[in-house]
Amino acid sequence: MLLQGLTTEAGSIEAATGAFGLMTEMYPICRSITGDGVRRTLDLVARRTSLDRAEIPSGTPAFDWEVPLEWNIRDAYLADLEGRRVIDFQAHNLHVVNYSAPVDRTMTLEELQPHLHSLPDQPNWIPYRTTYYRESWGFCLRHRDREALGPGPYRAVVDSTLELGHLTLAESIVEGSTSGEAIVYTHTCHPSLANDNLTGIAVAAALADALRVERPRLTWRFIFGPGTIGSLVWLSRNEHRLSRLRAGLTIGLLGDAGPLRYKRSRRGDTVTDRVAAYVLAREPFNGRVTDFEPYGYDERQFCSPGFDLPIGRITRSPNGTYPEYHTSADDLSLVRPDKLAESIRVVAQTIAVLDANRRVLNLSSKGEPRLGKRGLYGTLGGAGPGEFEHALLWVLSLADGSNDLLAIAGRSGIAFELIDRAATALEQAALVRTLDEPPGQQRGSAT
Ligand code: ZN
Repeated sequence: MLLQGLTTEAGSIEAATGAFGLMTEMYPICRSITGDGVRRTLDLVARRTSLDRAEIPSGTPAFDWEVPLEWNIRDAYLADLEGRRVIDFQAHNLHVVNYSAPVDRTMTLEELQPHLHSLPDQPNWIPYRTTYYRESWGFCLRHRDREALGPGPYRAVVDSTLELGHLTLAESIVEGSTSGEAIVYTHTCHPSLANDNLTGIAVAAALADALRVERPRLTWRFIFGPGTIGSLVWLSRNEHRLSRLRAGLTIGLLGDAGPLRYKRSRRGDTVTDRVAAYVLAREPFNGRVTDFEPYGYDERQFCSPGFDLPIGRITRSPNGTYPEYHTSADDLSLVRPDKLAESIRVVAQTIAVLDANRRVLNLSSKGEPRLGKRGLYGTLGGAGPGEFEHALLWVLSLADGSNDLLAIAGRSGIAFELIDRAATALEQAALVRTLDEPPGQQRGSAT
């Protein structure tokens, strides 16, 4: 099984410590769906795991969408006539509506009001607002500060550029031993917000880095891209390889105190859905499984009916269901290292089971093959078989080509890891053969 180091408690805690360190470095950067903030973020990720990067020009079509103008920002503020900044982008990048067009105007408070955003119910938090696909500008502020504003006038400055440029995608690719592929997608577009979604970026980087030293069966692509337009652009550039895609996850929001949740793919019964439900049901995760709905993060694009891919989503509290969501209170203090570690264990186990899961065929199915002479069975009679011998018998019995290892684990009640070990031993003894891979690419045949 892959990623054994990350599936243990000690290993996952160490990985979470590293992930939190990366999050701390990424947190101050003002990211968006395009621009230098994403590039600087990927520079930090690239110190942890190797990345293939692509720059896709503005105007490039992606189905019904196109890559927008590139947005970059140097400064933004609202200042009184003495030049004192009453709202300052330098103090917090959530203060500017993300993707704001450049502006430099002097206005009264009354004229400014349509451009100001605050949360009356959470007067100490700055909201996160965007204006990606409609040219506009604005400021976000604590409601208590908004209430203290005098009538003005104020100078409103957004020193930004919206120009022809690029959208930046990155992939950390770990080559597998077979032609099957799987993806893990995480969005990179949020500015100084921690749970949503520096946790997703940091966990994906940790997993990619750990997987790189192993030899998975599937080729795993960890994709770092902006929400919505990033997955659309990735799909439009990779449509030719989707027939090889066996499984996939979107991940994010992995550090809050809420329970782990898996959201099913649109089909609801894919291998990803079965594996994630199996892993989350284990002690001590006690995670929840929810049905697909066409709202959320990038699973919306992967599961759109024209693709209908076997891709689900792992989060803790989903989008919009915790009070700090999309506000300045989603900072590093919201992220609990123990929860981040638990998320790493669950995603690592899900990847490991997805990668190992396969259908096998019994090549000696008339009567039981003699396991003892192949060194696979305890030689002492009378004591009854141990758990491993039970697993061997279950694999042989159900390896009729219709069951995968997860189904055998489910029917036998034996842990997937032991079923996988038994199947591998039987493959090495040439008693079963993997059906999901062409001959010569099987793990057991490489001797
Ligand atoms: Zn979000």
